[in-house]
Formats: sequence, structure tokens, C-alpha cells
Amino acid sequence: MAAVDVAIVGGGLVGLATAHRLLERRPDLHVVVLEAEDAVGTQQSSRNSGVLHAGLYYAPGSAKARWCTEGKRQMEAFCDEHGVPVERNGKVVVAVDRSELDGLHRLAQRAAENGVEVEPLDAAGLREYEPHVTGVAGLWSPSTAVTDFGAVARTLERLVTGAGGEVRTGTRVTGIDERNDVVRVTTTAGDVEARTLVTCAGLQADRIAAMTGEPIEERIVPFRGSWLVLRPELSDLVRSNIYPVPVGGGLPFLGVHLTRRIDGAVWIGPNAVLAGSRAGRRPFDVDLDDARDIATFPGIWKLARRHLTVGVGEIWRDRNLSAMIREVQRYVPAITVDDVSRGPWGVRAQLVSPSGDLVDDFTLRGSGRVLHVLNAPSPAATASLAIGAELRDRVLGRG
Ligand SMILES: Cc1cc2nc3c(=O)[nH]c(=O)nc-3n(C[C@H](O)[C@H](O)[C@H](O)COP(=O)(O)OP(=O)(O)OC[C@H]3O[C@@H](n4cnc5c(N)ncnc54)[C@H](O)[C@@H]3O)c2cc1C
Repeated sequence: MAAVDVAIVGGGLVGLATAHRLLERRPDLHVVVLEAEDAVGTQQSSRNSGVLHAGLYYAPGSAKARWCTEGKRQMEAFCDEHGVPVERNGKVVVAVDRSELDGLHRLAQRAAENGVEVEPLDAAGLREYEPHVTGVAGLWSPSTAVTDFGAVARTLERLVTGAGGEVRTGTRVTGIDERNDVVRVTTTAGDVEARTLVTCAGLQADRIAAMTGEPIEERIVPFRGSWLVLRPELSDLVRSNIYPVPVGGGLPFLGVHLTRRIDGAVWIGPNAVLAGSRAGRRPFDVDLDDARDIATFPGIWKLARRHLTVGVGEIWRDRNLSAMIREVQRYVPAITVDDVSRGPWGVRAQLVSPSGDLVDDFTLRGSGRVLHVLNAPSPAATASLAIGAELRDRVLGRG
């Protein structure tokens, strides 16, 4: 069997963007993407809010801060070039009362440190952008946008195959064996030998990395996020994207927000509850291996103890529509329970440390022949082309 130059595990946005960036620079390489599902981008990459994040939130100097702003620029250019729709509809962050003003100011400072434009708003200014929002102050982010990340994934697949790469769907990786000069990858559709392996396996990132003998003390913990959908005739209640001031306290989730999607539909959410399955077909599916991995991981118990109140609140709002709507009514009081229906859901892959911390930054690991993307939570869809460029440079840097 002739070894391919680069095999990539995972046909989500990160894996496909890596293949695309590699082939753009080195069309002579034989690049193969191995994807377990029957189509690309069916997991996190198409089950998300669809927001192209401007980069307000992330710790200055972090990989998230750098690759989000750079990746957003690259993603907008990519979408414009390849006819994927982008709506530059902006976003407001709303402080509903004075107790949230400190958090809002911290966010404005962080945006400035990251070089992201925001405009401070008073109550009247808020209503100019979002007439149905109530709050004492806010921030306007003009560069936040929305797109269709599923369409981005399909476009990347087309470009990769058009450039001579292979995207093998229905090909689940089951084993990895690193030898002297090649990596042998066992899959449900035959073996592949590669000179370099890059793993971008999202919800399975820790398990795939463990197959290579990489010592991983963290675990991927799956957090389900579900959305409510606003009745279409009420979509004009929301013009852009409306976010609360982030709660802080070490949780990277952005709080229940309203997203005006690329098709004009308004989604409310996502919340964040522990999922019983990493790749379930239904929201309440439980996979015994996944559940056992969670239950036997000390980090999850430490995390649960530390964030008990937030966790219980999330579960309560997940089951109780009125409680979820009360959360939204804090800043858009016009929306009632009768105005929404239960909508789609997705599962986030979040790396958690043994000490119970949610690993905030993007995490790449490995060297030599094998590179792993261990943690690529939001905004990794926005940042995917920049992450792909970084992985390309690391692969080609090995010579
Ligand atoms: C609810 C939610 C909302 C979000 N909102 C946003 C947002 O608005 N903006 C933003 O920028 N980001 C958002 N994100 C984050 C973003 O979607 C992800 O960070 C991004 O899609 C990660 O891409 P990925 O390629 O790493 O993972 P994935 O899309 O999960 O791809 C991993 C792929 O690996 C494959 N795979 C796994 N195991 C194997 C195996 N053994 N063999 C072969 N293939 C395998 C899977 O089938 C999958 O296709 C959100 C995520 C969620 C869940």
C-alpha cells in the first residue's frame, strides 16, 4: 500500500479547512480526509448558531482571540469568493440592569484589547439597533455576521476533491499505529498509511488522540445545546443578534441569546446541559460508553460541585419552556411561551481538565508525524480556516 502524504481524521470544518489549506499551498500532496458519517460536517459543524464571531470575548493573546479575528476575516473572504451567503447583521450585548454594567465594561475593554470594534450604547441607543430590547446599556458589534456553516463544509469538500484530495465518508477510524516512517490508520473501510496524520475528530478528539498513545489527562465532555425557534411571523422582533452579558465564573458559554439566522429565522438558545451521548441521534440519547467515561472522570465531579447552581438552572430551563422564556424576557419582554416552538439541538465538544476546569483555549497537541486538535469549541467554526492554516504550517514545517 502506497502511503498518502497527509491523512486527516474528521470531515468537520476544522479537518476540511486543513485539507483545503494544505492543497492550496501544495497541490502535489496526496491528502485524504477520513470521515465516519455518510456526509461531511454533520456534527458540530452544521449544528451550531451560525454566527461569525467578531472576537470580543477571548483572552487577549490566546489562540481563540488570534484565530477568531483572523479566521473570521478569512471565512468572510472565502464565502464571498465561493458564493456562500453571509449576512453582516451585527450584534448587541445587553446589560439588563446596573448590576451587569461592570461585566459590560470588562467586555468593552477586552474587545478593545483584541482590536475588535464595539460601540457603547445607552438605553436609547440600544433601542435604535433593536427596538424590542430592554436594558440600561449595551454594546454594538458591527462586524458580527451569520452564515451557513453546513454550506461552508460542503464547499470545502468540493474544493478539496477538485484539487485532487480525497474525502472518504462512511470511513470510521478504529485504530492508529505509529511506525518508524508511516502511520497506519485502521478504518471500517480499509487501512490507510500516511506520512503525517492530523486528527480533527471533534467529540471523539480525546479517544482518537489516545489511539496514538498520546498521554491525555483531559476528557471531552459533551454539552448539549438546544434552541427554541420564534414563530416566523414574529421574526422582525429581532434584527441582528442579541446576547446577554456573559456570566463569567470560568464558564465559556455565552448565555442564551437570539440569533437572526442567514434564512431570517430567529433561534433562541442554545442552553448547555451535560449530554448522555457524544453522537446521539436524538437529544436525550444515552450511550453507555460515553456515560461511563463521564461518570468515571474525576474532573466532571469537581466541575459539577463548582457550578452546581448554574448546572441545575440549565437543566431546569432545558425541561421547562416558561423558565427558558423568562430568561429571554429579561431583555426582549415581548416574546412569550406561545411565540416559540422547540427547535434543533447540537452537542458541543468541550475539553475538561482533571481538576474540573473547562479548557477555554483551542488546544493543539502532538508533534512529529501526528498532530491532534484536542479542543476546538466555539468559535472554531468561525476560526476554522485560520486553524487549518496553522495546522498546514505545522505539517509542512516538518519538511
Ligand atoms: C450548540 C453549538 C453552537 C455553536 N455555535 C457556534 C457559532 O455560532 N459560531 C462558531 O464559530 N462556532 C460555534 N460552535 C462551535 C463550532 O460548531 C465547532 O467549534 C466546530 O464546528 C468544530 O469543528 P470540528 O471540525 O472540530 O468538529 P466536528 O464538526 O464535530 O467534526 C468532527 C468530525 O470528526 C468525525 N469523526 C469523529 N470520530 C471519527 C472517527 N473515529 N473516524 C472518522 N471520523 C470521525 C465526526 O463524524 C465529525 O464529522 C457551536 C457549537 C455547538 C455545538
